[in-house]
Amino acid sequence: MSTISKADVVVIGGGIVGAAVARELSRYQLDIVLLEAETDIAMGTSKANSAILHAGFDAKPTCWKARLNVLGNALYRQLQDELKLHIGWTGSLVVAKDPVDMAVLEELLVRGQQNGVNGLALLGRDEVLAREPNLASDITGALWAPTAGIICPFGATFAFAENAIRNGATLLRETPALDIVVENGRVAGVRTPQGVINTKFVVNAAGVRADDIARLAGDESFTIQARKGEYILFDRSVRNLVNSVIFPAPSKISKGILIAPTVHGNLFIGPDAQNIDDKTDIAATGNGMDRVITGARRLVPNLPLQAAITQFSGLRATAEDGDFILRESEAARGLVHAAGIQSPGLTAAPAIAQVVSALLKEAGLKLSEKRDFNPANPLKPAFQELSWEQRSSLIASNPLYGRVICRCETVTEAEIVAAIHSPCGARTVDGVKRRVRAGSGRCQGGFCGPRVTAILARELNIPMTEVRKDSIDSRLFFDKLPGNCEVPAHE
Ligand SMILES: Cc1cc2nc3c(=O)[nH]c(=O)nc-3n(C[C@H](O)[C@H](O)[C@H](O)COP(=O)(O)OP(=O)(O)OC[C@H]3O[C@@H](n4cnc5c(N)ncnc54)[C@H](O)[C@@H]3O)c2cc1C
Repeated sequence: MSTISKADVVVIGGGIVGAAVARELSRYQLDIVLLEAETDIAMGTSKANSAILHAGFDAKPTCWKARLNVLGNALYRQLQDELKLHIGWTGSLVVAKDPVDMAVLEELLVRGQQNGVNGLALLGRDEVLAREPNLASDITGALWAPTAGIICPFGATFAFAENAIRNGATLLRETPALDIVVENGRVAGVRTPQGVINTKFVVNAAGVRADDIARLAGDESFTIQARKGEYILFDRSVRNLVNSVIFPAPSKISKGILIAPTVHGNLFIGPDAQNIDDKTDIAATGNGMDRVITGARRLVPNLPLQAAITQFSGLRATAEDGDFILRESEAARGLVHAAGIQSPGLTAAPAIAQVVSALLKEAGLKLSEKRDFNPANPLKPAFQELSWEQRSSLIASNPLYGRVICRCETVTEAEIVAAIHSPCGARTVDGVKRRVRAGSGRCQGGFCGPRVTAILARELNIPMTEVRKDSIDSRLFFDKLPGNCEVPAHE
């Protein structure tokens, strides 16, 4: 028996797209179920990308990518306050090194203007170096896009999902869609390990797996190619190396290896681009690191490799014609695809959600607005960013704020406990890391990892041997020695 046997809409995939769709639909009087196969949301492409809110000059004017990038960028400006999103409006520079690159920048300028991007400007060499003194001295100019920004991509995914849940949506994690029931050419349900959820409307937001989901409904109309991109992340000591997002002139298949700050004060380089067959392959490789370092050195020659703290990679979900696939399936009416969502999918997500909502309406879903829809998430204090007075008053109200669990990022036990008990709360060690940054610093969890594990066991009321690092099979301990390793809440 399923824990939920029927829904108005089932959204398959808890990435930024599925979460934004669930939140958009939660404006209406609907029973919405968001299904995620993994232990947590934001564990696919939405956790490993360049985290840039692109301005919108890359894509050709007539395609979905162009329209939804510019609209998504604008929507994030509205959503920032409502959803308490962590965004820095840094602007971006695409730099040129020769006349061929300069011609590309001029094309991008015209395309960007056609796409409706505001404030684009071509800058000369001296102006660029005045803004970014650490760039390579052989650059010849750059395209400046003031509307570009940087965001915490998993924070945004949690924020959309949390707001959807606050407005009545249900999130089911560790619940893969196994099959789509189709009767007389229309969707009738989604089969999960817990049983069938009867529904007439399904949104396919399964990232690199979106073609597999389509096939479950007998729809073979598209294929998704995974294209891997690897990254290196640096610690906060080198954050000031660049002030904005720095791209090279783009190639046909990617925006190129870039260097960018993060909203948390780090810096990263990457990604490369490799087509791969295994959609689970997110290994970081020596060759990938070499490519990323070589590419980034073309932008910033004095790269501080000693400040590297980790590496990671993500998979682009590339469709045949390179554009987003946003339409109702012809094979199974009521199934709406949000597929092929490669870059700028993070930027476009809130706009994609609006398109998906309109497609569902065209497909027959009744959208009646809820009177009590609450668009806002509450502010969650980040201890590290507070003044000493604010910290003291928090500790007075809750002593767990006085216990710093992650020394690198100054994350307290109170923040970890709140992250576990919030809507779509953390269930894994890396889930805590992605929500409150415990384990994100220079030691990468070497110090706080065991404490976070013990707090998860205590708060979720599970044995330590049941706590996972991240994915379903990532248990940290297989047995327990005699003795007490629990962390009491009041030592
Ligand atoms: C290297 C790289 C750099 C990028 N840089 C940027 C950028 O700077 N800016 C930008 O705007 N975009 C960027 N993107 C694109 C952006 O990250 C993606 O467009 C976006 O994250 C896609 O989100 P999604 O929700 O479609 O997919 P995902 O985040 O992959 O979510 C899909 C979810 O579906 C789940 N799932 C799969 N199968 C099932 C099933 N059967 N049942 C239930 N759940 C299932 C998965 O576990 C996953 O959580 C980049 C992408 C990559 C790879």
